[in-house]
Amino acid sequence: MAKQIQAIRGMNDCLPEQTPAWQQAETVLRDLMRAYGYAEVRMPIMEVTGLFKRAIGEVTDVVEKEMYTFDDRNGDSMTLRPEGTAGCVRAGIEHGLLYNQERRMWYMGPMFRYERPQKGRYRQFHQFGVEVFGLQGPDIDAELIMLTARLWKQLGVSEHLVLQLNSLGQPEERAEYRQALVAYLEQHKDQLDEDSQRRLYTNPLRVLDSKNPQVQALLQDAPVLGDYFGEQTRAHFEGLKALLTSAGIDFEINPRLVRGLDYYNLTVFEWVTESLGAQGTVCGGGRYDGLVEQLGGQATPAVGFAMGMERLVLLLDTLNQIETQPALADVYLAMMGDNSQVAGFALAEQLRDQLPGLRVMSHCGGGNFKKQLKRADKSGAGIALILGEDEIARGEVTVKYLRGQGEQQTLAVNDMIEQLKKGI
Ligand code: ATP
Ligand code: MG
Repeated sequence: MAKQIQAIRGMNDCLPEQTPAWQQAETVLRDLMRAYGYAEVRMPIMEVTGLFKRAIGEVTDVVEKEMYTFDDRNGDSMTLRPEGTAGCVRAGIEHGLLYNQERRMWYMGPMFRYERPQKGRYRQFHQFGVEVFGLQGPDIDAELIMLTARLWKQLGVSEHLVLQLNSLGQPEERAEYRQALVAYLEQHKDQLDEDSQRRLYTNPLRVLDSKNPQVQALLQDAPVLGDYFGEQTRAHFEGLKALLTSAGIDFEINPRLVRGLDYYNLTVFEWVTESLGAQGTVCGGGRYDGLVEQLGGQATPAVGFAMGMERLVLLLDTLNQIETQPALADVYLAMMGDNSQVAGFALAEQLRDQLPGLRVMSHCGGGNFKKQLKRADKSGAGIALILGEDEIARGEVTVKYLRGQGEQQTLAVNDMIEQLKKGI
């Protein structure tokens, strides 16, 4: 036997048994977006590498070590998208969607990061993302959080998710804070681990993000970003908190929440669960008012978030919130005799025409009565329709109930259709 070829590590197949759970989540998300007036946008999966370097920042984990980057046949550097915001902003600028306009958009699709695969962390994963342009107040930040809260409720997982909130201030405020933070950390440099020492000069705010308990202990007495905020930044944050409180949405202020990408300012948030182990952040986002200009557009306020679909589906699965797998068919059409196939297919099409919601599976591959009924049972259908040469000659069909709903009967085709319409 030839050697089997396997999927790339960290890149998963979504098998037929798993797709119903994904479709359930995707359907709820699409309906949610409709309910809030958001439009779908679809971007390419690959962009020029420079886009991500400029958008995400050269000294972030994503750009430093997680990107799938390679030269194409022309020698140009390409990257499989590690997230959707950069491409969405690029598309918005390129097609003139952003300047002087309000846009509420969403997307869903695969993202790629070269990380160590583990539960909730993969090399190809999927994000549902929302990006809003042209609105600068805390009201739209609140709307994004409210719509995620509604999503948790609809999916039955509200009790297992906590909202963490922080403000990163404006770039000038952060620059001032950065100096103070670096000065403090320099005094305690020997207590920093290797990672934090490296970040100290490249991206000191990411030290706040460190998972090392010793570093976290040191941060207890570090300067606090909030002390460097001006009046407008405070007002934005207070405005958001007030709106969330009025909407009945609980939150925790987490001053250590800085998020992994460079482009955020003011509001940042994450929805975190304890039900998934270490990979507990299901959804994260924030404001990125500087990014459009940084990527060559006119300055445009913007806010968004991204949700990890694998983590969402894992959470639904863990909390038993996935609807049991539905049968593949309502009706299974068995055909007996050499000449029944043509009439059988015609009948199946007729059923699909007249009963658009009905799922009809036609038997293929021949075989005797027993074999065909076995297939009918396996399909999960409630009813087998049996079409033999006698039935065809009389314009009839035999109806066999597979789940004990009644006695087998032979009916005129039209009567059978009427019965199906009534929902037998
Ligand atoms: P983490 O801290 O878990 O690495 P992140 O801050 O890198 O997350 P973001 O860039 O904010 O993640 O992406 C938004 C969401 O996408 C995350 O909250 C998570 O649900 C999901 N996500 C990110 N990376 C992965 C991955 N490698 N596999 C699966 N889901 C992921
Ligand atoms: Mg990450």
